[in-house]
Amino acid sequence: MDAEQSLRVLLEDTRLADDLKDIARKVLNHERINFEEGVILYEKGELSYLGVLANYIREQRHGDKTYFNRNFHIEPTNLCVYDCKFCSYSRLIKQRSEGWEYTMEDMLNIVKKYDDEPVTEVHIVGGVLPQYDMPFYQQLFSSIKAHRPELHVKALTPVEYHYIFKKAKVDYATGMRLMKESGLESMPGGGAEIFHPDVRELIAKDKCTADQWLQIHEEWHKLGMRSNATMLYGHIEQYWHRVDHMERLRQLQDRTGGFQTFIPLKFRNKDNQMSDIPESSVIEDLRNYAIARIYLENFDHIKAYWAMISRTTAQLSLNFGVDDIDGTLDDTTKIYTMAGAEEQTPGMSTKQLVELIKAVGRQPIERDTLYHVVTDYSNHDFIDEPKPQFYKLPVVN
Ligand code: SF4
Repeated sequence: MDAEQSLRVLLEDTRLADDLKDIARKVLNHERINFEEGVILYEKGELSYLGVLANYIREQRHGDKTYFNRNFHIEPTNLCVYDCKFCSYSRLIKQRSEGWEYTMEDMLNIVKKYDDEPVTEVHIVGGVLPQYDMPFYQQLFSSIKAHRPELHVKALTPVEYHYIFKKAKVDYATGMRLMKESGLESMPGGGAEIFHPDVRELIAKDKCTADQWLQIHEEWHKLGMRSNATMLYGHIEQYWHRVDHMERLRQLQDRTGGFQTFIPLKFRNKDNQMSDIPESSVIEDLRNYAIARIYLENFDHIKAYWAMISRTTAQLSLNFGVDDIDGTLDDTTKIYTMAGAEEQTPGMSTKQLVELIKAVGRQPIERDTLYHVVTDYSNHDFIDEPKPQFYKLPVVN
């Protein structure tokens, strides 16, 4: 039975509550669901029901296509002037001995290590420190582009941009234009957490507000550029806070169309100030992906970070609205591992990623950052593929 037949069968189910049936009908007719219906999905939608709806949307848009990219991360520092309660990664400046601070040269050396590797993207994000200011990042981006012009620079979130623009005394529009001129090509989705102030004040009170986060993305989109958005879920927020978060994103997307991908981020409770809060179950994670796919009908892609949720859950998520499972990573990020993710050495070869996707009957597509197809691996033969070379990052204390 295909995805549409499954949805039509669901609509015939006499045991299904009327409100859930109304939502299913809207999905079949490609209609937007409203805020109250989003909350109903969280409160009443069982996993199997949500999977049918989300998979219908996923297959209408992408068929079996499942995207990934070949990328590596640079995390300039894990020291940070902020003190977000959920953060397992940051070491405050007073804990400097547990941190690292890369110099410009360190970071350019990391880029050069990949000179002979077929990566398409460098993803740069980390803590916030005064020395990593606007001129520093302008020079970093322009140096990377001068060294390897085709490498896509996806870097920093509104948390960093708000901080460095304020320090440089430039407004958001000017700041984003100058970053673009320096070589910035897209923005990742981090720093969004939960937008509603009742929650944001408690878990991330000093960094940029929801409005500031959204304004910075809006200025970036006005330049014709693309970005992603995240939501940190499964901690102290209630279901309606999640819907409120997605609603704000959906409204901005209506205005600009600049978001590519929505990425739900599961709260992990290792080594942070919220360690007493239990983590969400896999069932809840899958429900959340599915509801995101249903609610954000104006976003093209829903992504699951396989390194954060495990390879098996990433495979499962492909039936619950997810069409992108991120990249090879090459063991270059510590953000997930320090928060207690299942993957403690997150790197997969292209072959492993392709096999993971094929194993659940989907079509592996390597994409670049902007979702242009790099290689369709449906019928690719890997016999001659060299073993992946994992490059371990230096840690500068
Ligand atoms: S989440 Fe980001 S801004 Fe907050 S403390 Fe951690 S590194 Fe700093």
